[in-house]
Amino acid sequence: MSARAKLLPAAVTEEVATLIATLHKAGERLERLTSGEVDGVVDASGRTFLLRHAQEGLRLSEASKQAAILDALPANIAVLDSQGVILSVNEGWRTFGSANALQGPRHGVGQSYLAICDSAGGENAVLAHQAASGIRSVLAGAAKTFTMEYPCHSPSTQRWFVLTVAPLADSHPHGVVVLHLDVTAARQTDASLQASEWRFRQMAENIRAVFFLREAVTQRMLYVSPAYEEIWGRSCESLYLDPSSWLASIHPDDRAVAYQANQKAVSAGTFDSEYRIVRPTGVVRWIGSRGFPVRDANGQIVRVAGVAEDITERKEAETRIRRLNRVYAMLSGIHALMVRERDRDELLRGACRIAVEAGAFRMVWIGVVDPETLEARVVAWYGGEEGFVNQIVLTGRGDVPAAELPASRALRQMTPVLCNDIGADPSLAPMGGAFPSRRYKSVGFFPLTGTGQPDAVMALYAGEVGVFDDKENRLLLELCGNISFALGNIAKGEQLAYLAYYDALTGLANRSLFLERVGQYMRSAATERHQLALFLIDLERFESMNDSLGQAAGDLLLRQVAEWMTRSTGDPALVARVGAVHFAIVLPVVKEAGVVARVVESTLEAFLEHPFRLDDAVFRISAKVGVGLFPDDAADADTLLRRAEAALKGAKASGDRYLFYTSEMADTGADKLTLENQLRDALVNEEFVLHFQPVVNLASGTLACAEALIRWNDPRTGLVPPGQFIPILEETGLIHGVGRWALREAVAAYLRWSDAGLPAVRIAVNVSAVQLRSRSFLSELEQAIGIDRRAAAGLELEITESLIMADVKHSIASLQSIRALGVKIAIDDFGTGFSSLNYLAKLPVDTLKIDRSFVTDMTARPEGLSLVSTIIALAHSLKLKVVAEGVETQEQARLLRLLSCDEMQGFLVSPAVPREDFEASWLRKPSMDA
Ligand code: C2E
Ligand code: CA
Ligand code: CA
Repeated sequence: MSARAKLLPAAVTEEVATLIATLHKAGERLERLTSGEVDGVVDASGRTFLLRHAQEGLRLSEASKQAAILDALPANIAVLDSQGVILSVNEGWRTFGSANALQGPRHGVGQSYLAICDSAGGENAVLAHQAASGIRSVLAGAAKTFTMEYPCHSPSTQRWFVLTVAPLADSHPHGVVVLHLDVTAARQTDASLQASEWRFRQMAENIRAVFFLREAVTQRMLYVSPAYEEIWGRSCESLYLDPSSWLASIHPDDRAVAYQANQKAVSAGTFDSEYRIVRPTGVVRWIGSRGFPVRDANGQIVRVAGVAEDITERKEAETRIRRLNRVYAMLSGIHALMVRERDRDELLRGACRIAVEAGAFRMVWIGVVDPETLEARVVAWYGGEEGFVNQIVLTGRGDVPAAELPASRALRQMTPVLCNDIGADPSLAPMGGAFPSRRYKSVGFFPLTGTGQPDAVMALYAGEVGVFDDKENRLLLELCGNISFALGNIAKGEQLAYLAYYDALTGLANRSLFLERVGQYMRSAATERHQLALFLIDLERFESMNDSLGQAAGDLLLRQVAEWMTRSTGDPALVARVGAVHFAIVLPVVKEAGVVARVVESTLEAFLEHPFRLDDAVFRISAKVGVGLFPDDAADADTLLRRAEAALKGAKASGDRYLFYTSEMADTGADKLTLENQLRDALVNEEFVLHFQPVVNLASGTLACAEALIRWNDPRTGLVPPGQFIPILEETGLIHGVGRWALREAVAAYLRWSDAGLPAVRIAVNVSAVQLRSRSFLSELEQAIGIDRRAAAGLELEITESLIMADVKHSIASLQSIRALGVKIAIDDFGTGFSSLNYLAKLPVDTLKIDRSFVTDMTARPEGLSLVSTIIALAHSLKLKVVAEGVETQEQARLLRLLSCDEMQGFLVSPAVPREDFEASWLRKPSMDA
């Protein structure tokens, strides 16, 4: 009961206090009157009486006033004398008493209230006894007041009362006031308040956010929910004691922001801010906090109520997404770079720059490993402080073994080495002198494996911790895969550039480099007025040796021959391998014609005597030589070589070991003339026909296009292949007419297929160098496709690589005009004039046709396969379609498919066939099947 009383709502307590104060005032006066303390005016005669009378009158009037006061009070009140006898009761008591125990005419006045309570029985006995003892203790002066709460339920309603016993006067308890106050309403409010407090606590204590209520001006914390302890890692108590500890807990970098938001709360009331806190353990968490104003009656902001949440996870997710988007941007930037960039170091520099600019890394560098020494060296970087890169140590430094360095570890293990918190990982300390770890928080070392070997390492430094998560790593790995691929291509490209001028088997200059060099020697021979000699050397019976020993043995012998020639001339720049079994030597300075013959004879002799060895066997190789002289035989290197060829042919025919070129060795004009006339007639007589060879998609095997190949239906001998007459057509200029005819014929075939509702595939037409160089070619082409608007889409022109290369600038211009007409362009015989690789990116072409010799080589030599793979990869990076020519075996097709070559043509699928046959087997057949 008394415990209950303690929980009395403030309103009740206040009410009781007011009541008692009122009573005390009334009581004091009553007391003074009844005890005769009030002094009267005393004189000798009746004045005292008067006073006593006056006293009596005053007493009565005071008593009635007191009664009125008591009656007005909203409680049931009785005044007891020192013996506990009821002196008077108020109206409330009377009303209440009539419904309760204190019945009777005077509502207990004159009865002992103590006795009534003492004698109470039944279920109220205990409470009544408590009340009696409380009254006694106040009457005895042992307690100042007595309060108890008790229920007083009727069958219809539940009611609660508070009994308060207070002395009539503070000083001496001549009596007490007993006051029963109905607290049912207050008690109900109290219960609902308790319930709401209980609900609030449940909420505040269980929601994993911090609720707080703070005074606006003083910042005093009025309430903070227990989640504070969990999120901040500090006690709520500490915040109550020191409100400024909140600001102290905020990350130094975010303090200003958080403080400003807080200030805003005082002026505007509302705020919304995000900041980081640092727990006493050092752990950093992100907090999202919102505050709302609490105003007083005047609208003044007096308090701020708010919520603070741990938003670390969301923040991290946001950062991750932002980072991933950057890595995506970086990926596509580097993609574009790969297609464009053909220089390794430029590519690496570009990659570093993009990683910093698009990928938001603070610094990126790439170290390249030297395949010989296995030493790594930083070749590209971006974003680092001046001079920092020089401090980077990749391959060990005094006390630190190389293998321990993260970059070396990444290379050795061929897997990324990651550090998401540099400050916490001392293994990165030897990264190079004074490591500015304040700027760099995470670092990842990713190996680049362009050649399948670890040949470079990319280091990415970020300004935040924890950058390298799974998703980011996957993207970065993809990125590194791409850079590796580009590196590999460039490495092969460098090999290709090498191959463009050197013979892969022997390492000697190839035909084109040799001719270039001979050209230079010729120019100095011309200015210095001396002669120059060119020897073309044929290894006799080498073909049959190759057959019996196998190609590998033949290759070994060829290498030995090359070595021998380099040694005997003393200068590798003078020797070349210009054909399968043909070597060439240039003698740049010939002052006396007689010397040449002597050089040839002694060289041939020494050559024949030289023992070439293969395993234990010794081979002697004989050779024949054709000699051409400058300036006598030719004015340019190309012609000079051809003169030497003619001389060699002559030597082989005559059985001489060597022959000098003579004008009689030139092709006999008479033969040419008859052929020329016949071909001229052929055009008029319509003896030329186009045959069609299918080009099929490698993956699906379906028809992709058709190549038109010309044949001469010679009435005397039958079908003549183009190799036998095209050179004469070109030489005589007849090619213009024949070329025009071929174009029109192809267009006609295409339109015929379209009209017939056949699956009309594009037709590729071969265009000769002579045609393309002619000024009228473009208008002829326009005319050919002008007959129907569908025609352009049905045409592709095949132009040989060597032709394009002869005059790149002019070629680009004319190729662009052709393409502008809507006609596609293919580079034919690709690979036969390697040098064009460098220009490939600039050429406006659609398709690249790999020459048959490469397709054959693919299965013959290991380098052959990698060469084709490189060509395909390069072409694809330039968005060119790749067609393999001359595919004859399933094995070749399988390899090409593996290398993702797009299309193929060759005898494996079908040779070129007459148009009717092509239509029947390739255009009608699929629809018949269907
Ligand atoms: P090309 O443009 O490289 O044509 C491919 C040649 O390879 C064709 O020889 C074709 O029949 C042949 N071929 C196709 N598949 C295979 C195979 O699997 N194995 C082998 N060994 N050969 C295969 P073709 O028809 O004798 O033509 C030779 C060259 O004549 C053509 O070489 C092309 O440069 C030229 N040519 C053909 N038609 C024309 C034309 O209308 N105009 C011009 N200017 N040149 C033409
Ligand atoms: Ca062709
Ligand atoms: Ca070809």
